[in-house]
Amino acid sequence: MHFDLADDLQAKFKTILQQGVFSGGKEHDLLQANMQAYLGLAYCMPCANGSDALEIALRALKIGPGDEVIVPAITCVASAEAVCLVGAKPVFCDCDEHGLMDLTVLPSLISPETKVIMPVHLYGMMVDMDRLMEIAASRQLWVVEDAAQSFGSVFQGKAAGSIGDIGCYSFYPTKNLGALGEAGMLATNNPELAEEIGQIINHGQRNKDEHVSVGRNSRMDSLQAGFLNVKLDYFPAWQAKRKELAKTYLLHLQHIDGLLVPNHILGTHHNAHLFVIRTNFRDELKLFLELNDIGTAIHYPLSLPEIPPYGAFGPLRKNAELLCKTILSLPLHPYLSEQEVQFISMKIAEFFKNRSANVRD
Ligand SMILES: *Cc1c(COP(=O)(O)O)cnc(C)c1O
Repeated sequence: MHFDLADDLQAKFKTILQQGVFSGGKEHDLLQANMQAYLGLAYCMPCANGSDALEIALRALKIGPGDEVIVPAITCVASAEAVCLVGAKPVFCDCDEHGLMDLTVLPSLISPETKVIMPVHLYGMMVDMDRLMEIAASRQLWVVEDAAQSFGSVFQGKAAGSIGDIGCYSFYPTKNLGALGEAGMLATNNPELAEEIGQIINHGQRNKDEHVSVGRNSRMDSLQAGFLNVKLDYFPAWQAKRKELAKTYLLHLQHIDGLLVPNHILGTHHNAHLFVIRTNFRDELKLFLELNDIGTAIHYPLSLPEIPPYGAFGPLRKNAELLCKTILSLPLHPYLSEQEVQFISMKIAEFFKNRSANVRD
């Protein structure tokens, strides 16, 4: 991976080494400006990772013990972890067929303790933010978007993470825009929240040695900021490549009986982060692909209420639980070739053909 931009990354490393600034500095400020322009947001604040971003967002909104935050039942543990870390209670919302927070269920989960709705744009597909913002406004709730998987997705002209009160991003290496290590970011249009977030990230400092609150250190390395600045230039081309590959998958897989494909993946509200198919024969298919040297993954094998530390927070959510038994993420990244995608598709078709032949015997 990254051989095409190795020279650019090495040049950036050399520059930063010569400058001798490894926290904050020019690269940090440049990333901020680049992100603000790219996302169309007033304030973008780099931080150490996406999990920190979520926790800092909740702290900035003064969420704590006694408060409830509505989180979808299928997501990375980091979403619910952040809620627990500030002392609040995650309330799990069941998912629709895409694995997104089911907005028809959402209103029934709102209690007097509810303070925040945390939609997760899972696999890169955005939640219907019009509807969600309507629900939030009618109940005067904050919205923290977990946009960790959806950098590059756009819903009705607005970038993922730019619609709610605060957007949280992750630049973990496997995300669509990944650093060469850990990195994350918070974004908002609200100047008071931006001030609060900036302080929490950097020890509660307003200005140097002026500590106005108890914060923490969640600053981003200058090196990571520098690498992200380099990679941002390549991002549009990578996105185009992901969409092309997704299109090939769709072409070959959409008419197979017993297999559901992510039909929305070519839309702008989807950044083609993951190509997640669904089948009742998930485990057999996964094994079959493995035997053909095709690695797949499951995002995620269990819904959060099924995981011990989070099970205590509420009942199981039916759709989420069922979905987790049938989902499979196929390889999808910009360094995959068209031929590889065709080969994987062919193997999947072969699997289903053999299965139906066996059923007839
Ligand atoms: C990756 C991810 C996170 C956490 O981001 P890190 O940078 O790994 O801490 C949070 N939420 C979701 C949905 C993610 O996919």
